[in-house]
Amino acid sequence: MSDCLFCGIVSGRVPSKKVFEDDATFAFEDIAPRAPTHVLIVPRRHIDTIGAADDEALVGRVFLTAARIARERGLESYRLVVNNGEGAGQTVFHLHVHLLGGRPMSWPPG
Ligand code: 5GP
Ligand code: ZN
Repeated sequence: MSDCLFCGIVSGRVPSKKVFEDDATFAFEDIAPRAPTHVLIVPRRHIDTIGAADDEALVGRVFLTAARIARERGLESYRLVVNNGEGAGQTVFHLHVHLLGGRPMSWPPG
């Protein structure tokens, strides 16, 4: 999608601090980190929301990339978050997993 911010980041048209990439996924530092580690992991292919996703393998790849980055950073405890819809806090409508770690986290999230 040409007007999608995260498609722009995946393509390199929009600058980002890249953390990891492979054939299906791309990961980069969140511009406004909410924890010492705050990485966003996205599918290269545009999907609006997890609710609109229909590719099990690709969604699995996104989550396993997140777990891989956490492992490589030595994080034993961390949180993976997917916001679906404006009411849940989704602001960028290109599916992304937040990897948050490096500080204690409360439950449930607000
Ligand atoms: P959402 O609220 O949709 O779940 O998460 C969107 C995330 O994207 C937010 O944490 C926000 O800080 C991050 N973000 C928004 N614009 C940019 C940007 O231009 N670059 C990067 N790296 N992150 C962004
Ligand atoms: Zn997109």
